[in-house]
Amino acid sequence: MKFRNFPIYRIEWITSTFLIVTALLSLTLVPWFIATYHAEVQGWGFIIALFVFYYYATGFGITLGYHRLFSHISFKAKWPVKLFVLLFGAASFENSALDWSADHRIHHKHVDEDEDPYDISKGFFYAHIGWLLFRLKPKPPVTNVKDLEADPLVMWQHRYVQWIGAFVGFVVPTFLGWAYATLNGFTSPWLTATAAFLIAGLLRTVVVQQGTFCINSLCHMFGRQPYSRDHSARDSGAVALLTFGEGYHNYHHEFQHDYRNGVKAWQFDPTKWIIWTLSKVGLVENLRRVSDSRILAAELKEKSRTLGMDIDNLASRLDQRTRELKANTIAAAHNLAKDLAGRAESLKELSLSKADVSNETMSELRGLLNQAGEMLESLRRADAGSAA
Ligand SMILES: [Zn+2]
Ligand SMILES: [Zn+2]
Repeated sequence: MKFRNFPIYRIEWITSTFLIVTALLSLTLVPWFIATYHAEVQGWGFIIALFVFYYYATGFGITLGYHRLFSHISFKAKWPVKLFVLLFGAASFENSALDWSADHRIHHKHVDEDEDPYDISKGFFYAHIGWLLFRLKPKPPVTNVKDLEADPLVMWQHRYVQWIGAFVGFVVPTFLGWAYATLNGFTSPWLTATAAFLIAGLLRTVVVQQGTFCINSLCHMFGRQPYSRDHSARDSGAVALLTFGEGYHNYHHEFQHDYRNGVKAWQFDPTKWIIWTLSKVGLVENLRRVSDSRILAAELKEKSRTLGMDIDNLASRLDQRTRELKANTIAAAHNLAKDLAGRAESLKELSLSKADVSNETMSELRGLLNQAGEMLESLRRADAGSAA
C-alpha cells in the first residue's frame, strides 16, 4: 500500500498518541532522568517498592479482574475485590472492564476469524498493538456484556475510567513519592515525586500493557499446543512469567471458564494462587474448575492426533524398502494413536456425565500419554537422524 493511500481516517488518534508517547518516553525520558538525577534523588528503595506494588496491583487488575473475573466469570468476588481490580485495572490504561470484556469475549468466540478483534491471522503486529492503533472496521455494537452492565460498580468504572486511571495510576504514586520525601525531610521532595511518577506511573504502565499485548501476539504464535490445535492459542511458560500466569493460553482457550490458566502443579500462575488464597479468606467464591479427567481426555485426543500425523509424515518420506522394514513400527504407532483417540472419547463422556473416574484408570491413561510422548520423541529423533 502506498503511504498516501493509508486510511488516515481509521487511526484511533487518542489511543495511538497515548500508546506511542508513553512507550517513547519510557525509552528516552526515563533512562535520561535516572542517568542524570540518580545521585540527587533520595528514597530509591521506596520508589522501587512503589513500582513493584503498582506493577502487581495493575497487572492483577487485568489478569484477575478484567480477564478471569469479568470476561470469563470463572469465580465470584465480593465488592472489595471488585473495587480493587476496577481501580487498578483502570490504572493499567487498557480501557474499561466493560469494553475490555466485550472485546475479549468476541476474541474467544471468533478466535482466528475476521471478527476476532486481535486476530492473529492478520499478523503479529496487528494482534499485538495494531488493532488498537487503527480500526480496520467500525466497532460492532456491544451486545455480549449484559451481565456486566447490570453491575453498578462496573458501570461506574466504565463511566469514569480515564479519570480513575489518571488519578490512581499517575496522581497517587506521584503524591506518595512527595509525601514520603517530605515526611523523611529530604532536600527536594519534588525530585522524589518526579521519579515516582516516571517509574511507578509511566514506565509501569508501559510494561504492564506490553505484557498484556504479548498474550494476543506471542501466545497465538509461539509455544506448545497440548490441549488442542483447533485454534492458534499456545502455552508459553516464558510469557506466563511476564503476565502473572496468563501465558498458558492453549489451555485457556480450550477451557476458558476455568479460573486456572497454568493447570499443572509446576506451572507459574500467581493469578491462580491469589484467587485460591482469596477464596480461603472468603473474599471470592464459586471457583470454576475443569475436572482432571476432562483435561486428560483433551490431552489424549491431541496426542493421538499428533502421533497419527507424525507417523503419516514420516512414512511418506521413507522409500519403499525402508517402509516395508518399518511396517511393524508404523502399524504399532497407528494402533496406539487409535487407542488413545478411543480412550479420550470415552474418558470425555465419563467426565461430562460427572461419573467418577478411578485413580487407577487415570494413572493408566497418564501412562499411555507418556508412552505416546516417548514414541513421538523417538520418531522425531529417528527422522532427524535419517535426514542428516
Ligand atoms: Zn487468545
Ligand atoms: Zn480469555
